[in-house]
Amino acid sequence: MEYKRSSALFVEAQKVIPGGVNSPVRAFKGVGGTPIFIKEAKGAYLSDEDGNQFIDYINSWGPMILGHAYEPVVNAVIEKTKKGTSFGTPTALETEIAQLAVSMVPNIDMIRFVNSGTEACMSAIRLARGYTKRDKIVKFSGCYHGHSDSFLIAAGSGLSTFGVPNSPGVTQGTAKDTLLAQYNDADNVRDLFEANKDEIAAVIIEPVAGNMGCIPPKDGFLEALRQICTENKALLIFDEVMTGFRLAKGGAQEVFGIKADIVCFGKVIGGGLPVGAFAAREEIMSHLAPLGPVYQAGTLSGNPLAMAAGYEMLKALNNDLEIYTRLEEKTAYLEKGIKEVLKGKVPFTINRLGSMISVFFAENPVYDFETAKAADNPYFKTFFHSLLNHGVYIAPSSYETWFLTDALTYEDLDKTIEAIAKVEF
Ligand SMILES: *Cc1c(COP(=O)(O)O)cnc(C)c1O
Repeated sequence: MEYKRSSALFVEAQKVIPGGVNSPVRAFKGVGGTPIFIKEAKGAYLSDEDGNQFIDYINSWGPMILGHAYEPVVNAVIEKTKKGTSFGTPTALETEIAQLAVSMVPNIDMIRFVNSGTEACMSAIRLARGYTKRDKIVKFSGCYHGHSDSFLIAAGSGLSTFGVPNSPGVTQGTAKDTLLAQYNDADNVRDLFEANKDEIAAVIIEPVAGNMGCIPPKDGFLEALRQICTENKALLIFDEVMTGFRLAKGGAQEVFGIKADIVCFGKVIGGGLPVGAFAAREEIMSHLAPLGPVYQAGTLSGNPLAMAAGYEMLKALNNDLEIYTRLEEKTAYLEKGIKEVLKGKVPFTINRLGSMISVFFAENPVYDFETAKAADNPYFKTFFHSLLNHGVYIAPSSYETWFLTDALTYEDLDKTIEAIAKVEF
């Protein structure tokens, strides 16, 4: 495949945009080479500026669960646009999407819409701190909760008590309130609570991790976190920006039967427009301004175009009783096919839950950030570029999950498996 025009566009982009991209994950830093500039997309396929076509496994990092340019969403946005794109006043549609979301997700009474997953998580911990009147939070090494200061804390050694910022610009003062734990290690969290008695406001977690590749929780892990939080009067925050409306209508709370105190959304909830949200029981949400003292706001929050897209997306997912079964079956089919063609060729481990899947080029099980690091190696780079050249577009990093879309056909999946069979490691 030729990427002439993409390469030329990248040269121009780098002159006026840092690194040529508006989000670092889009640069091909982890795999080498030049990012591909996409011109358009439909269903399961992306078309780039050079006229190449790809089967897409990124799907905008999750939102396009029903495929690109999904017609009901596109039409709703077009119709809304004609009626004005932003008012800065309440609109009826905001209540409708809120009612729908509350009806789909267990254990929430109220929801506040924001513009991104970052905003959702940032606001969720402010609310948790305001509600509990405590400062510290526990996050897990390798989990991503957006780019706000409190979350940009590196994984020091497994039991590090105080976080170390891993981005310049995050102050020590902020970092010290973020405690790090290892994913799938509840004892580690228990130790942090012992060492910081009555100081921890919340534990925030991706209930199925997706930002260090796909890492499902071990049996009993989420239950243990629920118990530890309840015992210590801290809040359990599920960051369901990836898992929300993807694993099930009710997200990971529904799949695992665990009640979180605050739930964060993004990605699917916006149907491809910039939307995030956080939700909880009324008792917690009533601490939020204007009902309560915890401040949170947004000029474009609940924007009519974004709400129209999100509403159509949630409605489509809510009305399709088979959607999550179909996604699960397609992803399981892909997993089986990949296993067959990679067997004996290269060391690998596949993690999957529902329509989230990762192929790790690691010998041993991958269950936390340390074990995920083993898969960041030349095998992945070879795999990525070979798939790209065969028209299969996966995320350009071994730390990313593949997201399947319902627009994928079994023929697409077979083509993908064939492309994988052709990779020469
Ligand atoms: C993508 C993501 C975020 C951040 O959302 P943005 O919309 O990119 O700000 C937060 N948490 C998780 C789990 C995510 O996957």
